[in-house]
Parts: sequence; C-alpha cells; structure tokens
Amino acid sequence: MTPLRVRFAPSPTGQLHVGNVRTALFNWLLARRHGGTLILRVEDTDVERSTRASETTILTDLRWLGLEVDEGPEAGGGHGPYRQSERLPLYAAAAQTLLESGRAYYCFCTPAELATERAAALAGGSPPKYSGRCRALDRSASARRVAAGEPGALRFLVPQDREISFTDLVRGPVSFHTDIIGDPVIVRSGGVPAYNFAVVVDDAAMEISHVIRGEDHLSNTPRQILLYEALGWQCPFFAHLSMVLGPDHAPLSKRHGATSVVEFREHGYLPEALVNYLALLGWSPGGNEEVVALDEMARRFDLADVGHSAAVFDRDKLAWMNRHYMKSASGERLLDEAWRYFVRDGVATHARAQPSDEARAFLLSALPMASGSVDRLEQMPERLSFLWGWDDAAVAALIQQEPGGVEVTHAFSRVLTDSAPLDRDAFRAAASRVRELTGLKGKQLFHPLRVLLTGAESGPELDQAVPAIDRGAALGASAGLRPILSCQERARRLSLRFDSGS
Ligand code: GLU
Repeated sequence: MTPLRVRFAPSPTGQLHVGNVRTALFNWLLARRHGGTLILRVEDTDVERSTRASETTILTDLRWLGLEVDEGPEAGGGHGPYRQSERLPLYAAAAQTLLESGRAYYCFCTPAELATERAAALAGGSPPKYSGRCRALDRSASARRVAAGEPGALRFLVPQDREISFTDLVRGPVSFHTDIIGDPVIVRSGGVPAYNFAVVVDDAAMEISHVIRGEDHLSNTPRQILLYEALGWQCPFFAHLSMVLGPDHAPLSKRHGATSVVEFREHGYLPEALVNYLALLGWSPGGNEEVVALDEMARRFDLADVGHSAAVFDRDKLAWMNRHYMKSASGERLLDEAWRYFVRDGVATHARAQPSDEARAFLLSALPMASGSVDRLEQMPERLSFLWGWDDAAVAALIQQEPGGVEVTHAFSRVLTDSAPLDRDAFRAAASRVRELTGLKGKQLFHPLRVLLTGAESGPELDQAVPAIDRGAALGASAGLRPILSCQERARRLSLRFDSGS
C-alpha cells in the first residue's frame, strides 16, 4: 500500500480563514489517523499578493491550533522546496514535456481579445470558454515567436468530447464533460505557472496520495486529472469539503464577523475549542458526542464520516464549546491565556508578559468566579470588574434606588469596626448583624449588600466575591495590579456620602 501523504496548500495572501483551517484540520486528522505525512506547501506564485508575513502568520496559527505539519518550509523534508516560488524549474520541465508531446501550445491572444470573446459568450448566454483560436497555429512558428521575445502563454490542449469521471471521497461519483472546459493557461506569458498546473506538478512530485480541499476547487479537478493523464502520472484520490457558510448561507466572510484564526485568538477563544468546533463542521464523531479532544478525533477520523452538505458557522455553538473548554482548563492555563486581557484592560499596572507571583496567586483564586460564566477569555477582566471597577459615585446612585439600600449601607459600615479582611464566615457573621440591625432578611438584605459591595445587580456568589475583594485589597502595589478597595472601605465611603447628603 502506498503511504498516505496529504497536503495543506494555502496561498499566503492574508490571514488564515477558518474555512481553510478546517481543510488543514481534516488533512491533519487523516494523516494522524493513518500514520501518514502532512505536508505544508506554500502556494505563493501570485507575487503581487503573496507575502512572507502572511506565510509566518499561517504557520504560527497552525502551531497554535496544535496542527503541526511533518514537512514544509520550516519543518523541512525530502520533497522540498515547499514554496512554489522556489519550484519554478519543475514547472518549466513539465511544461516542456507537454509542449514536446503536443499537449500544450502557445497562445498569443491579447487580454483585450480574450475579454471580447468572453463578453460575446456571456451575451449569447453560454458560459465563457476559450475559443481555442491559437490551437491551429503552427507549433514551430509559435516557438520562434516566443524565442524572439513575443509574449505568449502556454495553454493545455483539452481533449474533445470526453467524460471525466472520478469518485470523490466525500461527494461520491462526479463527472464533467470536456466540452465545457476551455484550454486552460498553464504557464502565463511571464513564465509564472497557473494554479491548476503547479498544483498537479507539485502533488505528483510530493507523492500526494489524497488531495483534500475546499469544494470551490471541484471544477478544477477535471483539468487536473487531464494534466495527470497527459503527463503520464498517477492521479491521487480527491475529497472536496463543503464550504463553510454564514447564517445567511453565503460563504463565511468578514461581513459575518470574525473569520480568521488571528481574530478568534484575539477575542479569547481557546485553540482546542476552535479545532473541536471546526471539526464538527462536516464531520461527525458518531453518536451525540460533540466534545472530542484533538488526539481522540485523530483516533476516530474517517473521510467516510464527512458529510457533503454545506456547513453553517454557528457562533453560539462555538461560544458554548469555548465555555466548555474554559471550564475544564486548569487555573494556571486559563491565567496564562487570559493575562493579556488584564493587561489590555488596564488591570495590570505594568504591561508584563507574566503576572507577578502575588498577582498570580490572587488571580488564580479569583478566576473561577469568571471562567464558568463568560464565553471568551477576553471577557474575564470585565466579569471581575467588581474588584477594580468599584466607583463610589456610580454605586451610590444605584444603591439609593434600592429599597433598604441606604439603611443596609449604614448598618454594614457600623458592623465592620475593624479592618480584618472578611473571609466567608466573617462575611456571614457581618450579614447576620446587619439583619439584626435593619430587620431586613433574605433577598431584601442580600440584594442591597450585593449592590453595595460589587456595584452590580448580579454576579458571582457573594460568599466568594466578598473574600476575594478583601484578599485583593490586601495586595501591595508590588503585585502590579490596580488597587482594590476593601469591603469596609466601600461601605465607609458610601455611608459618609449618605451622611453628608450627597
Ligand atoms: N492554494 C489553493 C487555495 O488556497 C490550494 C488549493 C488546493 O488545495 O489544491 O485554495
């Protein structure tokens, strides 16, 4: 059996789109499932739009997602180089073979002539297709014109009246008639190979056994099959994945919101949540199971379980998946991932790459109050804003609208006579004393207390929030976090305000 070799072949012209990640993921899963090899090939023949920066982003994103490749520009390997721009001699050699066997010919049609042909076809209601005008040119005369410096593109001679059929491993039997296929340009007049040609030369030279890619390439496949045939090379298996769509069933794009891995990372999604969610776009691990870790997916993955209906990207489902992974992540991991948002939101007083030991210990104790109730890591500082964001003017306005609010504030301030930090038991004891002093109990007592101490109508359990406030208030400036007012100080300030009538 030939070894399984698959490839992910992005064009480095921008950020890595989640649709492409899913293609990379399915290639990765198939390679891991069968002990095969995953190759990363950078399709950078579009010199105008390709950049090294984009290539670096793509590599970084794949690594972040846990999708390491076995061969590629950084990983190396025995089938390089792995950038198309470095493989030009291979394309030139294959083009020469096709020229010599009469399967390719030079075309001298100008862009204007081609545009007129195209417009005429469209006006006549037929799909635009190259007329084949230059097919009839004398081959040796054409070769002389090119040698003399005249610009000419190389076109592949598509055989007439053939049915090209293949079995797509996702979509089943597919066939195209060659009548609808115009002779494609395989090498542009400047010598740059066209996608359909370069991809065949590379997939053959890299001994790719399975081509797994987006359905947008399905109509390219018959051209590629014909090229394999003309070059006497064996065709790989093909699998075309359905497109990833937005909720309006248009291809997922910027107007639907975040689409690139970079954006999802910036918004605080965990990589394992993103890969798990993307795997479910088209693949079913079986049963009702949805939360499946990457290594487990790799044990179960089979192309036969990939569906071909369009996959709609559902942000709520992704948020649900992210919540799941956040809940099961360790505190240390969450803090490492979320720290940058504490820096971004100004909770950290210095833009340090890591929190200080003191801040780390404190945040580790506070994070569980946020991790179970936010969709994304970036929302954590906001969820914990009762610690740093307490503002007496704003809280005073809120609490004055609370039945019993002012009374509870005075009583609480009176009860907290020493500045010992409140732990859970001390808070409960203080709350009982306030109940005795005010006669308020249950919700009528705890709701104003919550507003007073956290500045919000809802939030984490007071039993956890109150001790966290006082632990935070005890931190010194060296912790590198914004100062936190103690519960006693909060009550004292408001009580003073109410006494002075402001
Ligand atoms: N560079 C192509 C793309 O990004 C690759 C297509 C293929 O996998 O053949 O769409």
